[in-house]
Amino acid sequence: MRRPFVAGNWKMYKTLQTARELVDALRERLTEDCPVEVAICPPAPYLLPMQRAVDGTQIRLGAQNMWHEKEGAFTGEVSPQMLLDCGCTYVILGHSERRHTIGKGEDDALINKKVHAAIEAGLTPILCIGEKIDQREAGKTESVLTEQIKGGLAGVPADKVAASVIAYEPVWAIGTGLTATPAQAQEAHAHVRAVLAQMYDEPTAQAVRIQYGGSVKPGNAEELMTQPDLDGGLIGGASLKADDFMGIIKGTIQGKKL
Ligand code: PEP
Repeated sequence: MRRPFVAGNWKMYKTLQTARELVDALRERLTEDCPVEVAICPPAPYLLPMQRAVDGTQIRLGAQNMWHEKEGAFTGEVSPQMLLDCGCTYVILGHSERRHTIGKGEDDALINKKVHAAIEAGLTPILCIGEKIDQREAGKTESVLTEQIKGGLAGVPADKVAASVIAYEPVWAIGTGLTATPAQAQEAHAHVRAVLAQMYDEPTAQAVRIQYGGSVKPGNAEELMTQPDLDGGLIGGASLKADDFMGIIKGTIQGKKL
C-alpha cells in the first residue's frame, strides 16, 4: 500500500522566527507513529535552520525548486548537492507558479532536466502537473496532463519513477479557494496512473504516490482522501498554520481509514 504523503509548500512566506514557531508546534503534535509521511518545504534560506529544527523527528524536508547543473555561473540558483547538504529529501519541481507566474516560466524540457538531476543526486522529485481553467473548459485536461507527465519524466527509468512523487495541482485551484471535487481529482489521478502504466507498467504506476494540491483545507481533506488514487496532498496556504496543517494530516488519516 502507498503511504500517504502530506507536504507543506511554504512558498515565499514566513520569517525565521515564525518558521521556528510553526515547526515547534508541528513537532509537539505529530506523533512518532503517524501513518502519514509529512514534509515541509520552506524557502531556501530557511532550509538549514529548519533541518536543525526537524532533526530527530519524522518530519522530512523539501525544497521548492533547484537548478539542474552541479555548479557554475547561475546567480541566485541552488544545486542538488546544496539541497542535500541542507538535509533535503524532496524537491518540488515544475510547480505551477514556476511554470506560469515567475519570469518567463519553466517548460517541460527544463523541468525534465531538473527531474533527472534531482534523481541522480539522490533527491526525490515532487513533479507538479496541472491544467489551467481554459484548458479544463476546452476538454483538454487529460491531454495537458499526459504531455506534462511524458515531458517531465522523459528518459527516467521505471524504478526511479516508482519512487518519485507526482502532485496533481489544477492551476485554477491553487491559492484560489476553489478545490477540485473529489470526483474531479480522482478522475485526473486515475488518468495520471493510466499514463504511467502505458509509459512503464502497471506495478510502476501503482507504486507512484500522487498528491492532490489546490486549496486543500482541514474541511475538505478527509473527503478528498477517500478517493483511491489520491495519496496525500501538496498544501500551500493551509500549511502555514499548525492547526490547519495538522487538520489536513488528520483528515488524510481519516479519509484513508488508517
Ligand atoms: C501549492 O502551492 O502547491 C498549493 C496547492 O497552494 P494552495 O494549497 O494554497 O492552493
